[in-house]
Amino acid sequence: MAETIIKVNLKESPYDNDKIHNRWHPDIPMVSMVKPGDDFIVECVDWTGGQIKDNDSADDVRDVDLSQVHFLSGPVGVEGAEPGDLLVVDILDIGTFDDSQWGFNGFFSKQNGGGFLTEHFPEAQKSIWDFKGMFTSSRHIPGVEFAGLIHPGLIGCLPSKDMLEEWNTREKALYDTEPDRTPALATLPYADTAHMGRMKGEERDNAAAEGARTVPPREHGGNCDIKDLSRGSKVYFPVYVKDAGLSVGDLHFSQGDGEITFCGAIEMAGWIHMRVNLIKGGMEKYAIKNPIFKPSPITPKYDDYLIFEGISVDEGGTQHYLDVHVAYRQACLNAINYLTKFGYSKAQAYAILGCAPVQGHISGVVDIPNACATLWLPTDIFNFDVQPNAEGPDIHLDGSIDIPRSADK
Ligand code: ZN
Repeated sequence: MAETIIKVNLKESPYDNDKIHNRWHPDIPMVSMVKPGDDFIVECVDWTGGQIKDNDSADDVRDVDLSQVHFLSGPVGVEGAEPGDLLVVDILDIGTFDDSQWGFNGFFSKQNGGGFLTEHFPEAQKSIWDFKGMFTSSRHIPGVEFAGLIHPGLIGCLPSKDMLEEWNTREKALYDTEPDRTPALATLPYADTAHMGRMKGEERDNAAAEGARTVPPREHGGNCDIKDLSRGSKVYFPVYVKDAGLSVGDLHFSQGDGEITFCGAIEMAGWIHMRVNLIKGGMEKYAIKNPIFKPSPITPKYDDYLIFEGISVDEGGTQHYLDVHVAYRQACLNAINYLTKFGYSKAQAYAILGCAPVQGHISGVVDIPNACATLWLPTDIFNFDVQPNAEGPDIHLDGSIDIPRSADK
C-alpha cells in the first residue's frame, strides 16, 4: 500500500494541523516531497473543517464561517518541477474513512453564502447522506439512491507571485463595482481566519494578508467542482512555482453539474491516492493555460435521462441576451417544479439536483436572443417511475419527511 504522506484527525481543529492550509500563496512551504513516478495517499478533512455535523438541524449551515474555507491538504512538492512544466496527476482512488461514513449537502442562507437559486431558497437547509459502500441515500429525501461519482472538488498547484497579484487585482476590481452586495461579487483576502500551513512570524502574517481565497476556480484549476474529475481520471496541471506545490481538498461523494446548491455537493472527509509525473516545458508544448484532464474509465452507468430545457428568459419574464446562467437556472427550476408533482418539497428536489449525477449542458449559444441550457436528470436513481404518462404522476411520498431548516435567529 502506498504511503500516507498527509494525515488528518477529524476530532482536532484543522488549524492545529500544519499540513493543511486555506489560502493560495507561493510561499507556503511544501509539507512533503515526492518524486516523479511516486504514488502516495493524502487525507483530507471536509471543506469546512468539521463545521457541519451529522444531525437534523441546519443551524450549523446558517452559522458557518465561510472565511475559513477551503481546508486543503498540502502543498506536496514534486522534485524537479519548475514553472512551465505540466504536473500529471493520476487520481488512482478516493475513499471514505471507516468512522465517517456520511456526507452533507446544504443551501447557505442568502445572508451567508447564498447559492445558485438563493432567491428561491433564501434559508439555510441541510440534508445528510449516508454511505453504504459505493451507494448513498439520505434520511431527509426518500425515494432516491445512487452510486457515488467520487472526486476532489478542489485540486491544483500553488500560484506564482505574479499570478497571485493578478488574481487579487482583478477580483478586487469586480468586488468594487458593488461592494455592498449580498452575497458579495468576490471573496477577497482575509487574514483573520487564514491558515498558512507551516509559515511563521512576520512572513506568515504578510502572506495571510494577501493569500488568495480558495473559492473560485482559476488558471491553476483550484475549486473547479467538476464531477467528472473522478477517481481514475488523469489531470494535467500547469506548474507556476519550483516543486509545483500540489494541494487538494473538498472531496465529494457525488455532485450534479454546476454544484448548484453551493454547500455544496455531497461533502465529505476522506483520502485520495495519487501518482505524479512531469512533462517538462509542457505548458508551452501543448499551449496549456488551464488544466486539461482525461475522465475515468469507470463511472456510474446512468444513461437514461429526463432532460429539462431552459432558455434565457428569467422568472419575471425578462429577456436576456444569450445568458447561459439564466438559461441553466430555468432548466433547474423546471426540473424542481416537475419533481414536486411526485410529492417532493422544492428543497428536496433542489438537493437532488445538487447531489445526484445530474448533467448540465450548454446546448445552444447562437440562436439570438435565447441561450438554451439543459439539465439531464437520471431516471434510474429513483425507486419509482418519474417519467410522464397518461395516468399522471405516481405520488407515493407522503410529505412527512423534509429537509431540516435552520431556526429563526
Ligand atoms: Zn465541495
